[in-house]
Amino acid sequence: MSTLRDTLLRGDRSFSFEFFPPKTAAGERTLWDALRRVESLTPTFVSVTYGAGGSSRDRTVEITKRIAAETTLRPVAHLTAVGHSVAELRQIIGQYADAGVRDVLALRGDPPGDPRGPWQPHPRGLRYAHELVSLIRELGDFSVGVAAFPERHPRSADWDGEVRHFVEKCRAGADYAVTQMFFHVEDYLRFRDRVAAAGCDTPVIPEIMPATDVRQIRRFAELSDAAFPEDLAHRLEAARDDPAASHRIGVDYAAAMAERLLAEGAPGLHYITLNRSTASLDIHRQTQSRSWHVR
Ligand code: FAD
Repeated sequence: MSTLRDTLLRGDRSFSFEFFPPKTAAGERTLWDALRRVESLTPTFVSVTYGAGGSSRDRTVEITKRIAAETTLRPVAHLTAVGHSVAELRQIIGQYADAGVRDVLALRGDPPGDPRGPWQPHPRGLRYAHELVSLIRELGDFSVGVAAFPERHPRSADWDGEVRHFVEKCRAGADYAVTQMFFHVEDYLRFRDRVAAAGCDTPVIPEIMPATDVRQIRRFAELSDAAFPEDLAHRLEAARDDPAASHRIGVDYAAAMAERLLAEGAPGLHYITLNRSTASLDIHRQTQSRSWHVR
């Protein structure tokens, strides 16, 4: 099987789905149902997020290993530096290598509790994502992804620093980046231009968030500092008691974004599923039927 790096270097378009480790047995069943549904579409990869601390972190490792062992999917494990010594990070990466998981999304992470609070590195840990990229590359033949922020990372004072530090993690050995959710295509395009102007050609895969529930989306958008379009919010508000209409509005908006991103040359699409694949699969089908050609 070719690596994710090879796929992206060849210029093939990727499509992928993001999941999180559920807390309950019922949540676990929902997750596996969704995974089985996306498996039939042979996506380029699926990714599993990493919690801010506690037992959900072990579940990320278990689920990622199980995807590698029991499905035909390529799992990408999110990993953050939060609360881990370098020795612990090495141990987790070693577990992935032993389980045949070759893809890691290397993240700095946010402080547990208040994600906007002061960032304190572990005394024997890492300070920035680029150090985690280097560590993973040092430990084996992994394809490594990093995070990108089309609307700038909330902790970055200006665009110069944002771009410089993004390029730093690419130069440390990142093969690709996946963006934070965003709702205006221009933000992605401007980010890509800025990075290209800095001499960096790492593929940046846009993340697509189906906006089908206005309350939930506003919360996520606030947490990630993503500007949520008011006209979309109004339409979703108007349809708040009609789940089928909300679904259609969210799917249509995301599919239009996805189509435009592909037309502008985005290297793929990464769908947030919230462990329920329905909306992301609808967006994918709609996009695929209209504009999925290899560049
Ligand atoms: P970094 O690249 O280290 O950047 C953090 C800040 O430090 C930025 O402002 C940057 O400009 C600055 N910086 C970087 N390098 C330097 C330097 N050398 N000197 C000075 N400043 C510097 N979080 C989770 O907890 N679990 C997840 O599973 C998860 N998945 C994510 C997936 C995606 C696609 C994205 C976009 C984010 C995800 N996050 C996740 C959130 C992410 O961990 C946070 O947004 C975090 O604040 C930034 O992580 P980073 O890897 O971009 O950090």
